[in-house]
Amino acid sequence: MPTSTPMSGASLAEPRSVLVSGASFAGLATAFWLNRLGYRVTVVEVAPSLRRGGTPVDIQGETIAILTSMDLMEAVRERTLPPRSFAFKDAKNTTLGEMAHHPDDEAGPRYEIHRDDLLEVLSGAIGGDVELLFNCSIVAIEERPEGVSATFSDGSRHEFALIFGCDGNRSNTRRLVFGDGEQFTHFMGGYFYLKVVPDTGLLPPNSSEVFAVPGRMAMLNGYDDRTDIGFGFRTAGEIEYDHRNKDQQRRLIEEHFSGLEWKVPDMLAHIGDDNNFYFDRISQIRMPTWSQGRITLVGDAGYCVSPFAGLGGSMAIIGAGRLADALARHPDNYAAAFRAYEEGLRPFVEQVQERAAIDSVQMLFPGDEAEMAERDRKLAFGDIGV
Ligand SMILES: Cc1cc2nc3c(=O)[nH]c(=O)nc-3n(C[C@H](O)[C@H](O)[C@H](O)COP(=O)(O)OP(=O)(O)OC[C@H]3O[C@@H](n4cnc5c(N)ncnc54)[C@H](O)[C@@H]3O)c2cc1C
Repeated sequence: MPTSTPMSGASLAEPRSVLVSGASFAGLATAFWLNRLGYRVTVVEVAPSLRRGGTPVDIQGETIAILTSMDLMEAVRERTLPPRSFAFKDAKNTTLGEMAHHPDDEAGPRYEIHRDDLLEVLSGAIGGDVELLFNCSIVAIEERPEGVSATFSDGSRHEFALIFGCDGNRSNTRRLVFGDGEQFTHFMGGYFYLKVVPDTGLLPPNSSEVFAVPGRMAMLNGYDDRTDIGFGFRTAGEIEYDHRNKDQQRRLIEEHFSGLEWKVPDMLAHIGDDNNFYFDRISQIRMPTWSQGRITLVGDAGYCVSPFAGLGGSMAIIGAGRLADALARHPDNYAAAFRAYEEGLRPFVEQVQERAAIDSVQMLFPGDEAEMAERDRKLAFGDIGV
């Protein structure tokens, strides 16, 4: 378990124990960098193991540079998925518009990797140097001038120099430090379900297909060995549901999608009745600041861009990389480091959030007949901006 940490003012004295909450992309990448910078790192993860599943992660631009400086790009390249075509379908499975995947476009090389493979690469990289505690969560945080103490869910209390909230869209750290997380949630008017199942044969390998009617969208991603089954539905406001109640979430999907055409009946037949799926509201996190005192947020916890942006995993890795850079440039002043991290990254985050809120939602997920008609007009002109 972590030991206590002496600290004074804004400076970070040795030894520097730090706490990371959440062991997904943001948490593992942050832990990696903090370890490399010489901090003693503890990670708490509420789940009993790394949380697997989900759609593949896009790796491009700055994410490649950061993974290269982590010496992980080779491992990522080895697991890169073959290029995938992307087609919009109607109820009769006629293709309305198609987008070929260009791995090397003008924005430079672009790779896709299964979410689980990237988790494996990152967790392998932190190895035994980082203390990783599963089934564990922070229940209280108390900041004092000389440090910050965290009480864990097992009742134990520990002292740290800094705390990094990397615990996702519904961040526990954000709630404990900044108050009710809902005030920072920008609901985008819908919900998204994703389950990875063994190959269903519902579509060719290395292809994606999307079918939409106003307010509802069904998506299939096909790979050599597995199929992603995705459903999304739009709502006027937020619906009442318990984000821990998987039975209820599965029922929501069945209610919204039974009776729909295309491949939807087969998709519903494949989702089974286990709890191994991802379901969440589609939302962004927009906060006036990501840091308070000795605590800062990384990835979805501070600036979720939403599944529509297709950049959540990259943003978490970029966030961790930028934060590490800021801490390296201000080794004795965490306040200056947190400021530099935020000032440098915020414009990019806001740009990505803006684009996801406007273009991607309407294209992938038209809410009504008017948006559907606009999408069809764009498809007819080959203007597929997703
Ligand atoms: C199982 C899973 C499947 C996903 N599938 C998709 C998908 O299909 N499409 C998509 O766009 N995005 C998906 N996401 C979200 C995507 O991973 C993130 O948008 C992105 O990777 C940013 O990563 P992150 O580390 O900031 O957040 P996340 O990947 O959400 O990770 C947050 C981590 O914090 C942990 N955590 C939560 N609460 C606590 C707590 N109280 N204490 C300690 N740890 C806590 C979580 O268990 C999780 O491991 C998925 C996330 C998960 C966890």
